Amino acid sequence: MNWYPFELHTHTPHSDGRHTLAEMAREAKRRGLDGLALTDHNTISGLTERGVVEKETGIVIIQGMEWTTFYGHMLTLGLKGYADWRDLGPDDIHKGIERVHKQGGLVGIAHPYALGSPICTGCHWDYHISDWTDVDYMEVWHETLPSIRMHNQPALELWEGLLNEGLRICATSGRDWHGSKAGDDPEAATFLGIPNSEKLTESGAIQAIRSGAVSISMGPLLLCQIAINGRQFGLGETVPIRDGLEGLEATVTVSLDFHVRHGAWTLEPQPLSIVLRSNLGNMGEARLQPGETELTYALPVKELKWLRADLFGVFHGVRTKIAFTNPIYFS
Ligand SMILES: [Zn+2]
Ligand SMILES: [Zn+2]
Repeated sequence: MNWYPFELHTHTPHSDGRHTLAEMAREAKRRGLDGLALTDHNTISGLTERGVVEKETGIVIIQGMEWTTFYGHMLTLGLKGYADWRDLGPDDIHKGIERVHKQGGLVGIAHPYALGSPICTGCHWDYHISDWTDVDYMEVWHETLPSIRMHNQPALELWEGLLNEGLRICATSGRDWHGSKAGDDPEAATFLGIPNSEKLTESGAIQAIRSGAVSISMGPLLLCQIAINGRQFGLGETVPIRDGLEGLEATVTVSLDFHVRHGAWTLEPQPLSIVLRSNLGNMGEARLQPGETELTYALPVKELKWLRADLFGVFHGVRTKIAFTNPIYFS
């Protein structure tokens, strides 16, 4: 896999953003990103410049939109055409999701616990979801320096609760980028895993989110892999423990790549903490000394449904979660 950092939630003056698509793509390139999704509120008109901007900057641009309604904000990515949201009441979101899926797109819940009315009417997620298997991804981290934002904590808990119920929803981050100025807090990037044999394209990026080959970080790229019985599994993949693997131990490798997005973030040399998380809770915490980039663990797989990694350390002056991966699943 090659891992490409993306920004998946952005706005231009076609809704309430302050930078044009070209200005944003240039800034994205400067910030070490390889791609972005344009998700203006209820319009895709900003995408008319896409071809020119992609050619100028080399940034891959995903067609997206943020359905901006009284009952919540829903992000759509990778539609072939247009899907209407205007007739949907609070109990009709599955009808809307079906329209997006019919167009080959993905749906993601934006900032599910952002403050609603009177601060931001519709920003809080109030649609009734009767079947979570319809939801492709969730914006678990929202805005700059997302790990310290109060409204992201319940989003993370909701996501892990759904994973515990056996659902496979991809977690993403979104800066909700409206413009940039000097002194902005650092943003997280959503790293999308694309097979080495493929070039980075919009459809490959969509496939990465669909399959859960996604890791999120404000700094170094955090990855997690499992080796068991001579086979390897990465983020989003499924270890088939029913195929006679129940009694075995897996070797879990967690690795960090400090070379990603060179110059876009800084991290003082320090011991960093890796925490393995699963449906069984915290599976252990370990220290990485400065200069170390990899840790391995041996774990019995018997009762696992999902497993993923968190990275903690001092970042931008606060001790905080710096990165987290999507899960590897077990069946
Ligand atoms: Zn929104
Ligand atoms: Zn937005």
